[in-house]
Amino acid sequence: MPVLVCFHAHPDDEALSTGGLMRRAADAGHEVVLVTATRGEQGEPKPGVLLEGQELWERRVEETKVAAEILGCVSNEFLGYEDSGMMGEPTNDNPTCFWRADHDEAAHRLASILERVRADVLTIYDDHGLYGHPDHIQVHRVGLRAAEIAGVSHVFEATVSREDAMAAFEEMDMSPEEGDPDADGFGDDFGMPRARIRYRVPVGDALGPKRAAVRAHASQISEDDFFLSMSDEAFGRIFGYEFYAVPGDGDGGGPVDVDLLPGL
Ligand SMILES: [Zn+2]
Repeated sequence: MPVLVCFHAHPDDEALSTGGLMRRAADAGHEVVLVTATRGEQGEPKPGVLLEGQELWERRVEETKVAAEILGCVSNEFLGYEDSGMMGEPTNDNPTCFWRADHDEAAHRLASILERVRADVLTIYDDHGLYGHPDHIQVHRVGLRAAEIAGVSHVFEATVSREDAMAAFEEMDMSPEEGDPDADGFGDDFGMPRARIRYRVPVGDALGPKRAAVRAHASQISEDDFFLSMSDEAFGRIFGYEFYAVPGDGDGGGPVDVDLLPGL
């Protein structure tokens, strides 16, 4: 059975962007491996969630393990870089942050995992990292290079269809911009135009685990935050499909529905 590796930037990214695909692939009998570039050191912990003396990254490593289990992963690994923070922040200059990482070195770290688990399919992000976060952009660049090194021929870019997202929010009478910090970066440059996206994976039957995986990241996302406070109906309308582009694709006819990605 083909092996799926999902490469992400920070703990919690896996849940919303590829969580449905991961759970569905696991249910179909595939080995699913989560690789996370950083431990999310620059996140802001919710008040009171950290134990005495506990560092945020320690907590986030635990949360990622729980989320990975919920999503059916056989293992989860970290690439060992530090969170770069949002674009333009002084944390971008930290020499050990992912944004500063040497592409080739980082790609070799990932490639060695891809080779070890015998990856057949790799997911990364679109070329602007969904919304321009430096670590997400780096996932795209490093992921492409690692796939080349390890000879993984099926690479897909997790993204969001701008038009579909806007339509869903309008239909649900919700705007993620209305004062919600979770929605940072949601705007005209969010995701990709529909025409450039190759596949849409319906993940309605995996919404329970997908949302439970979001909930596992309690140091970052609380019950009254955007992703957990919306109704199940709204969550399903907004997160019931995952969109995947193919590197180098131009405008096509928009996404076709597939049960699982090609190669799985
Ligand atoms: Zn992230």
